[in-house]
Amino acid sequence: MTAQRRAELAEGIAGVRDRIAAACAAADRDEAEITLIAVTKTFPASDVRLLAGLGLTDVGENRDQEARPKAADCADLPLTWHFVGSLQTNKARAVAGYADVVHSVDRSRLVTALSDAAVRAGRTLRCLVQVSLDEEEGRGGAPVRDVPALADGIAGADGLELGGVMAVAPLGADPAPAFTRLAEVAAEVRRNHPDASIVSAGMSGDLEQAIASGATHLRVGTALLGGRRAIVR
Ligand SMILES: *Cc1c(COP(=O)(O)O)cnc(C)c1O
Repeated sequence: MTAQRRAELAEGIAGVRDRIAAACAAADRDEAEITLIAVTKTFPASDVRLLAGLGLTDVGENRDQEARPKAADCADLPLTWHFVGSLQTNKARAVAGYADVVHSVDRSRLVTALSDAAVRAGRTLRCLVQVSLDEEEGRGGAPVRDVPALADGIAGADGLELGGVMAVAPLGADPAPAFTRLAEVAAEVRRNHPDASIVSAGMSGDLEQAIASGATHLRVGTALLGGRRAIVR
């Protein structure tokens, strides 16, 4: 039932937009500073198409196997594709074919692989350094001390453009201090790279705290699209 799904998605968008508006008002920020990325993982290309019809411009995916065919299905739509999941170097070439922004750059080998792939594809990839805010948990991301060198590496690589930083809040902890730390790391990156203004933080459960700490890009799945079924990998 396309009409019913469209209505559900419209309701999801309205709810998230209300939360963004309230969080921006509370933080004295302009809503225009915020880009809402719909994380469409596990949902079909038909949902991406409906979201685009409802005015969303940015979509995110976390697995190449799923993202590649979906992006191909939706190639006629004016969308910006964000790759937000952990990325193996052997997938860099595939991802460089459809992604516009890669949020999960956390090691120098990946910088090299993405640069080679982007040059080969004749594309420019905007890359964010993924920062680990809980160094023991292993949810991906570079330790804070490695961030400046990675940022310099991206900025100097052919085919890549440094967009800024990204993080996922630590599981089961208050996200606010983690997002404050991310804001500090982002400010440090901007000292050498003033155009690297993206701070990708905030998901369905913590977008208010992310906005309060200066996030520019929110990656929202569940609150827009509904619950995901568990994926067996
Ligand atoms: C799935 C995912 C999201 C969206 O999570 P929700 O809690 O469903 O909003 C955001 N960022 C990354 C990296 C993800 O993998």
